[in-house]
Amino acid sequence: MDLRSKFEITVQGIAASQGIAYGQIFVYLQSDVEVPSYQVEPERRIDEVARFDRALVVTRQQITKIKNEVEKNIGPEEAAIFDAHLMVLEDEALIGETIREFESSGRNIETCFHKISSRYVQAFAEIDDEYLRERAGDLRDVAQRVLHNLLGQAENSLNRLADQRIVLASDISPSESATLDRSAALALVMDSGSKTSHAVIVARSMKIPSVVGVRNLTQRVTNGEWAIVDGYDGIVILNPSESTLFRYGKIQEQKKSFEARLLEVNRQPAVTLDGVTVSLMANIERAEEVMKAKAYFADGIGLFRTEFLFLNTARWPGETEQFVAYKSVVEAMAPLPVIIRTLDLGGDKPMAGKSELFPKENNPFMGFRAIRFCLEHQDIFKEQLRAILKASVYGKVRLMYPMISGAEELARANAVLAECRAELRGKGVAFDEAMQVGTMIEIPSAAATADLLAKDCAFFSIGTNDLIQYLLAIDRVNDRIAHLYEPTHPALLRTLRYVVDQARQQKLSVSVCGEMAGDPIFAPLLLGLGVDCLSMSPAWLPSVKYLVRAMTMADARALAAEALTMSSPKEIYAKCDAFYRARVKME
Ligand code: PEP
Ligand code: MG
Repeated sequence: MDLRSKFEITVQGIAASQGIAYGQIFVYLQSDVEVPSYQVEPERRIDEVARFDRALVVTRQQITKIKNEVEKNIGPEEAAIFDAHLMVLEDEALIGETIREFESSGRNIETCFHKISSRYVQAFAEIDDEYLRERAGDLRDVAQRVLHNLLGQAENSLNRLADQRIVLASDISPSESATLDRSAALALVMDSGSKTSHAVIVARSMKIPSVVGVRNLTQRVTNGEWAIVDGYDGIVILNPSESTLFRYGKIQEQKKSFEARLLEVNRQPAVTLDGVTVSLMANIERAEEVMKAKAYFADGIGLFRTEFLFLNTARWPGETEQFVAYKSVVEAMAPLPVIIRTLDLGGDKPMAGKSELFPKENNPFMGFRAIRFCLEHQDIFKEQLRAILKASVYGKVRLMYPMISGAEELARANAVLAECRAELRGKGVAFDEAMQVGTMIEIPSAAATADLLAKDCAFFSIGTNDLIQYLLAIDRVNDRIAHLYEPTHPALLRTLRYVVDQARQQKLSVSVCGEMAGDPIFAPLLLGLGVDCLSMSPAWLPSVKYLVRAMTMADARALAAEALTMSSPKEIYAKCDAFYRARVKME
């Protein structure tokens, strides 16, 4: 529907990444394109076939271009994948049957092509032969591309936005979000999702305003609509009036001058008013992001999500490629520490085109992911462990395992690491013998057995994104229950206190690396509970540091102590919010 002729419409969603943007919407249609269906007048049927031909030609040009780029930048073997895609476009059966379907039904060509290609995809997917099953993926990819071209949505790639746009999508997968065009995405709005869905983590790291949980907005607007995205209050205003634009212009100016003030603390140490130094580290996903961590004077890398080396690539990054990536980060940060997390692949982060390793699961967040995957595929795990060990001589590396559920699993992971160490020692390859090994605490069973885990590792890093979802049974990417995802829930506070106490008793350091750590509203609560270090997207370091420098640790401890006596998450949140507002004034 064309909202331009209508009045301003405000859509309430969930505030996911702060900031305000104004611009035109680009509706990003993913794999499941919604195909309109209509009857084509007999006199327009020749044009319809010509339209189909044109879409096939454009698709061929696009794929050839990608193939050439891949060949140039990666290699001929990888580029060969696209030959299979080009062959789909020449498939007599697919094209011929689409035309015949069109001639007999008279429905628009998209409908006919969608029907026939879906039938083929289905047939391939059911074949009991791995090679042919993989062809189903090729066919689906090409079919989507043809449909996008027929529907006039050729520029649908997130890394090739034609212009600066507000990206509106129904959902964005972790691998898609890694391709988000940093310079062109003004804001990110999603029908589904929550504050800790991966696309939002990426948006926050890029300081892109984001609102999620706007339900079916993708179906209600079309490309080019104008909108304001307010990532503070979680609203999207379609077709804003002049007075709304004026009001938001003023707010934006205020926020900009506040941002400038924040940057003044960039080079200053993170020391509270009563003299306690707090460690503030950075979360990164790609080696290049280390530059951002340095630009914001991070005290180290608190979380390197290495699985992102494996997403968005048709190849398996081998030991050498991984070593080069880890070494570049370690060298850039030296002598500051770099905590490299072993692969958290699987679940919602499967590798594309590797369905044999990552079969579809009904419950991916509770499925075959992270350390579970690595312990079953030890060849893959060992390749990574060796690459990390080899990188450890170039600076200060710490290694950490994701999704550990108990002491036995930790012991198994450590045993594999010991084998890798022995192997390298045997070959005379140098590595840091004193490299610390830690574990993430992100599963309730790990938190409840923190005393046991502490015996077998050197530090804890609490992954609140997952810990909250498992503790409260709230799927972190389900917008229907996103309002129940409460970081101030007493269950979480008690769990954090228990983990910190156990760490203290056994002299382990403990950090938080979930999104909570980078939110200045929650930072005092975490520090007051006794957490030593907060690790966050680099862009959030100034906001948290600004607050740390404006508070006393004694006040933060009092806040945490009071919060621990309270029962309502909302009231605890209000306390944290008041704590923040009393110390940080926007104007
Ligand atoms: C977490 O769960 O808090 C975390 C940091 O890991 P990820 O967001 O990568 O699952
Ligand atoms: Mg996690």
